[in-house]
Amino acid sequence: MAEETIFSKIIRREIPADIVFQDELVTAFRDISPQAPTHILIIPNQLIPTLNDVKASDEAALGRMMTVAAKIAKQEGIAEDGYRLIMNCNQDAGQVVFHIHMHLVGGHNLGPLLSK
Ligand code: 5GP
Repeated sequence: MAEETIFSKIIRREIPADIVFQDELVTAFRDISPQAPTHILIIPNQLIPTLNDVKASDEAALGRMMTVAAKIAKQEGIAEDGYRLIMNCNQDAGQVVFHIHMHLVGGHNLGPLLSK
């Protein structure tokens, strides 16, 4: 059984977060340490620790994450200028919270995809 992270508490609204969207499959909230003018995390409500743990039965939630990202980008006013969606898996990618999440970042020119 995977161990819950702080994100499960955010989904259940047991700890504060700036939630911008929530439905039966996904929750989206502002990152506590934003790396761009807009930095929102979009997560499945069900705990999936890493992308390696994704199953076919998760496809509805994963698809919803994409449609919600597009909707939030429009709400944030960054859809036309552009934005980036990032998902980190395990240590080489720098994953620190083991509940999969999509970073939606934008609001200025984000530069090259990778720093090295
Ligand atoms: P990762 O490196 O795992 O892809 O990204 C984890 C992200 O979660 C980081 O950008 C970090 O700032 C954010 N984060 C960690 N703890 C919290 C929290 O308690 N609240 C919010 N809103 N964001 C968090």
